[in-house]
Amino acid sequence: MKKSIQSFLNKPDVMDLLIRNINETISTTKKDKDLLLTYRDGKAAATNQSLQKNINSFLIQLYSDEVGITNPLGPKKDEKKLLLFYYLLDDLCPIVRSLLYSINLLGICLSKLLTNSLQQKGLTVFTFTGRLYFAFDLIAADNLAVHDLGGFQKNFNHGHFCRMCYVSYEYKSIPLTNISFLLRTEISHEIHLKQVLKSNIHICGINDTSDLSNLIAFHPVKSLPFDIMHDYSEGVCMIMINSILKAFSVRRILAYAQIESRLEDFKYRQNDESNKPPVTKQKHLTNNHIGGSASQKRLLFQLLHVIFNDVIDRLTDILPIYICLREIVSIVFATKIRKPWLAYLKTLTITFHSLMIERLPDYVTAKVHFITHYSELIKRNGPPRNYWCQRFQGKHLYFKRLATRSCSFKNVPFTLAKRHQLRLALLLSYDNFHNLIDKPVSTKIINPSQLPVEIRLLLVQHQYDLLTYIESQTLIHKHVKYIKKTLFLL
Ligand SMILES: [Zn+2]
Repeated sequence: MKKSIQSFLNKPDVMDLLIRNINETISTTKKDKDLLLTYRDGKAAATNQSLQKNINSFLIQLYSDEVGITNPLGPKKDEKKLLLFYYLLDDLCPIVRSLLYSINLLGICLSKLLTNSLQQKGLTVFTFTGRLYFAFDLIAADNLAVHDLGGFQKNFNHGHFCRMCYVSYEYKSIPLTNISFLLRTEISHEIHLKQVLKSNIHICGINDTSDLSNLIAFHPVKSLPFDIMHDYSEGVCMIMINSILKAFSVRRILAYAQIESRLEDFKYRQNDESNKPPVTKQKHLTNNHIGGSASQKRLLFQLLHVIFNDVIDRLTDILPIYICLREIVSIVFATKIRKPWLAYLKTLTITFHSLMIERLPDYVTAKVHFITHYSELIKRNGPPRNYWCQRFQGKHLYFKRLATRSCSFKNVPFTLAKRHQLRLALLLSYDNFHNLIDKPVSTKIINPSQLPVEIRLLLVQHQYDLLTYIESQTLIHKHVKYIKKTLFLL
């Protein structure tokens, strides 16, 4: 990892992007103290040991997931699994972070020692005078993997299933307007862990010491955040879609065949077309399993009221839960969050939790409880989009495919690591590591008088009226595609 970070940072464009983004975010949050942009703006950064030692350290985020190397349909599907760790320089700007080649392989084993050496000793690179230090911040993973890494119980259907508070399974269906649960702290966790190690029984959902306990600045209570992709896109949003579609049929508002044909006939516009979800059929609703990728599922959730605009108002009991969840989703998926929104988010999540218990009690899962912690999570670690699993999973897919397609079972970790390092070496041989595309398509020069009056006025106000204007049908700017006649929220 040390060598690959070194080669990575020796690329002038990478170093330039890193430093520019850190300076930009720090100056923006200095000017506007209400803004939460990165991990550095949350409460957790103030107590991070490595950041306390050196405030200028670059942040490193980890991700962990498994790869099955046997036939996924065969009888031995769960027998041979490899645990892969990835790292990401957390200070890169959002667009660069989302590129898959910004995520790199840390190891196909537990490599905590390497990360510690970067935090303690740092490293030098050609593109920067002075020594660079690094600070570990968070580990992203799905709930099961996170509980495994943190030494928590690996079951969400009994006992103390939440890694953020001391709720127990029998209290999960009591509205949080009537009761509240103590949050786990580092001190209380250590006390319970000592008892666990002494008596060899599980206490408060703690099973064992974390495998990563030697990693500097790591603590199971503060370094293992919830993930919006698993909790929302593949969690509560799916519960909502499922219950709405089922309610249409049960209440004889629409038959299953009508639901299917509406989902099939809906025309997705240019920007959404690539994420068009597969049609949800009756068998999917019966099995409570809606297919598709996380982005397809989130798109379906967001367009559900448009697809069923004429009938959704008839679900007078479920509609308020859907509206409440949409409001929550709009905040937790935002890249910039304001501190005053968090109190509102807390109220919204508690309302959502209470409404679910009252109106859809059969669907109250552990994830419905996790949702209620998001305001505290954001207060600690900044916007959840900075530590979601979505892009990491994109990178992980490369290894998942490679593991089964390479058909090499002699030394699978070696094959995977070698193939990845060769690919990385190729990327590092180019002048620029990040090839951010800027490209206009179908362009023509236009006269400012052809522009609408409102736009002309704006241009005059900002003294841009004397420039030459080029109109383009499609514009790719820093990897983001802008198409004419589509709407973008910036
Ligand atoms: Zn909890």
